[in-house]
Parts: sequence; C-alpha cells; structure tokens
Amino acid sequence: MDMRYRLLRVKNQAGKWSNGIVWASDHRLKTLAKRGYITLFDSTHKTNFLQFKLFTWMCRTEVDHKTYLPCAGALLDSESGDTIAAALAQICHWIKDLGLEWRIKYALTDDSAAEQRAVALTFTEESKESLGNVFGEVEHLLCQWHCKQTLNRQLHGDVLTPANRHLQAALWSRRTEAGCDESIQAALDSIPDGTTIKKKNKPWDPKRYIREEWQATKRRWGNYRRMQEQILMQVRTTGGNEGWHNQLKTALGLRKNQNSPFSLAGVLETWEDCARVIDARYKKGLSQWNTKELSVCTEFPWMKQFPFPAQVILNDHLVAAQNRQVEESQITKELTESNECDCKEFWKCLLPCEHMLEAFLYGDAVEPDWDKYSSLFLDQKFDVYEGKRTEVAVDAGADSEGDRSMEKISASSKLDMEETANRIKDRRYAIEDQIRLSGMTLENAERVMRAYNQSLAMAAEKLAGMSINEHLQLEASDS
Ligand SMILES: [Zn+2]
Repeated sequence: MDMRYRLLRVKNQAGKWSNGIVWASDHRLKTLAKRGYITLFDSTHKTNFLQFKLFTWMCRTEVDHKTYLPCAGALLDSESGDTIAAALAQICHWIKDLGLEWRIKYALTDDSAAEQRAVALTFTEESKESLGNVFGEVEHLLCQWHCKQTLNRQLHGDVLTPANRHLQAALWSRRTEAGCDESIQAALDSIPDGTTIKKKNKPWDPKRYIREEWQATKRRWGNYRRMQEQILMQVRTTGGNEGWHNQLKTALGLRKNQNSPFSLAGVLETWEDCARVIDARYKKGLSQWNTKELSVCTEFPWMKQFPFPAQVILNDHLVAAQNRQVEESQITKELTESNECDCKEFWKCLLPCEHMLEAFLYGDAVEPDWDKYSSLFLDQKFDVYEGKRTEVAVDAGADSEGDRSMEKISASSKLDMEETANRIKDRRYAIEDQIRLSGMTLENAERVMRAYNQSLAMAAEKLAGMSINEHLQLEASDS
C-alpha cells in the first residue's frame, strides 16, 4: 500500500501539548497537488471513543462539478491552529517527496477560527520554497452558506433584520467591491446609533459586530470576490463535504444516542475504505467523460457535442427553461448583442443558461454557438475553470429578484432545514459533554437526556399541528 502516516506532537500557543496522526496515500496526494487549487477543509466530531476530531482535506476532481476526493486525513486531539498547521505542513512535505508542488490558492472552510489560523500559519509567502505552495500565501474563503446561517442567527428582530438583508445582498448578489461596501454601509446605517442588545445577559453592540466580523473580512465572504473567478462561482460552499460526511457516518455506524466505540486505527481504516469508494467514482468519471450520453441527446442532438458532465449541467438548464415556459408569469429575458446572458448561471460555467436556452427554443434568438461552448473542454476537463477569470463587472444592485424559482426556493429551504437538524444534534453532543464533565450520577444523566428528548418531541408535535397561516403569523411576529 502507498499509505503514509505520521504521529504528531505539537505545542500550541497556550503551551499545551497536543497529539494527533495525519495520513495520506500517494495517488491521492498527486491529485491534491494538481487539483487542490481550491482545497476544502472538513472536520467531523464524535467518530471515536477518544474524542479526537477527524479532519479531511478534499479537492474537486476534473471529472465534473460535484466529485470531491478526500485526499488526506488527520485525527487531532485538539482543534488548535497549531496542530492543524502541523498536519498541513506534513502533507506539504509528502507532496514535495513525490517531486510535486501543492497548487493551493484558496482554502475554503466553515467559520472555524482554528482552521483560519492554521492556513495563515502554514501557507505564507516565505513557506513557498520549503513547503512548495506554488502560489505562496493562500487566500482564505468562508463557506457562504455557513455565513448566511451566522447572519440569520446574529441579526434578527425588528431592529436588526434590515441590516441582515443588506449583508445578505453583499453575500449573494453585489458584484463589485464598491457595491459590497455600499451594502455593508447600508447595514451599519440601518441600525440607530447607540443600539445595544442584550445577548446572554451581556450588552452587545451590533454595529461593532458588523464592523469587526463582517466589514473587516469582506473578501472572505462577499459575492464580489467570488465573481472574479469561475471556480469561485462554482465552489461557494463546503457543500462538497456533505456527501463525504454522510458516507463516513454511515460507515462508522454512528448513531444518535451512542458514543462511538471506534479506536483511532478503526476510524483510519474506515476513512480509507470510504475514500476508495470515491477513488472508484473518480475513475468511472474519467472513463465516462466522452463516452456516456444523456438520453435527451436524441431530442437535442447539439448536446452530443458536450462531454457527459457538461450535458448534465445543460440538461438542468434545459429543464429550467422548459419550466419558465410553463410558468406564465416569467418573461423571456433579454440577451446581450452577442446572444448571451449576463446572469450568474451563465458566467459560472460559461454554458448556455436557462434564459439563453429558452430564447433559442421558444423565442426568436439564433442558435447558440455550440462549437464555442463545447470547445471549452477540448484540452482540459473541468480543471479548465481553475484560474479562469470572469469578465463580469456590472453590479446587479441590491438583489436580483428575477432569479427566483420554486426549485431554488425549495433547495434553499432544504438546506436551512438540514442546518437546523445539525444544530439539534450539536446541542445534544454539547449536553452529553456537560454531563460527562459534571460527573453527574447515571440516574441524573439519564433524566437530563430524557428531558432533552422530551422537549424536542414536544417541539416537533407543536410543529406538526401548525397550519400554514400559523407559520406565517409566527414569521411576521419574528421580523
Ligand atoms: Zn441567464
């Protein structure tokens, strides 16, 4: 086997020692070196009885827009920037051993301070030579979906909802830096001077919060930064980790009310098993690149010009175009002189969007230049998007209402629901930890857990009994 691993023992900034193990296989390190232009960080807790945190570094492969390969992993006993940085440095050294360099330009994470610190510690301009990070300093990007959740958690209620809306506009729609600044300023201006809110019985200054946590870091989360490069438009969230997460949890048989019985070696072995499944998917994707075909190609032969993964994207656009036709309220969108659209979907992949397909199939637009669009993939696969700059610079204004459809609303609400479910689980874990720390008797621990589950069941029952009108009333009273 080509698996490498190394034990880590690191002193963190508080002077405490922490331990861990980092591992990777040569063939996946090779992919990480090549495809890690944007590297996703994933962390999972509760995978083993020692409560080490499991980290996985993933990158998107060139076979399509949704296959993310877990390339290296680590189990660390503390979530400190220093420990994570030590694991990252080890991965760099292994890649160098293979005679390669890590082409990492962006790190994409949830909102973890430790991970942000680890990236800043590891990938500096100075470390370029010794660690082989070709682009020098790595830019840190935050998952936009997690940012949205944070905004909704922090800024709600009568006084703060307008600020939330302005920041969401900067997060999802403002296309230029000036536009982003404008929205942040509008968010600040929407809060009356001297507003203080009580949070956990302490005074909290929302303006200061926005200045420190959002304005100062706008490059990490603002839509304008993502609009500058195709790959950043495509990989906006850490959603690519989700499938991996679930796969691991299923393989480890992690169940809600149980502590994981796994040893570190057991987790490592399972990690490897799961990664092999994705290796196989990756391989299959490569073999199907030019051979597999969607059945709609019979009806729309122009689609045959595109590799399979591009057909999948085009087919989504096609379905959306057909839906637009069915919904009478939708007006056909005006295209530019070169017969193209200026919506985000078009710029994202440079493939005809639903508006262009609608105009061509049902309107009077001329046939799109298929050769032009399909030639994008001639010499490269989906890695063609890495480092490809976009040419959009127009600010779409505060919000583009026109881009909404029932599917989008439904997809977004599903994400919101999953996040709520995750928070319920997190809360459970937190209570369990508290019980363990408090040295409570088993009898009392059982009571606390039962009480927690009871509260949850009551909330669920109340929810099930509510009518749509009642939901709406609740929403109105909340904002
Ligand atoms: Zn469009």
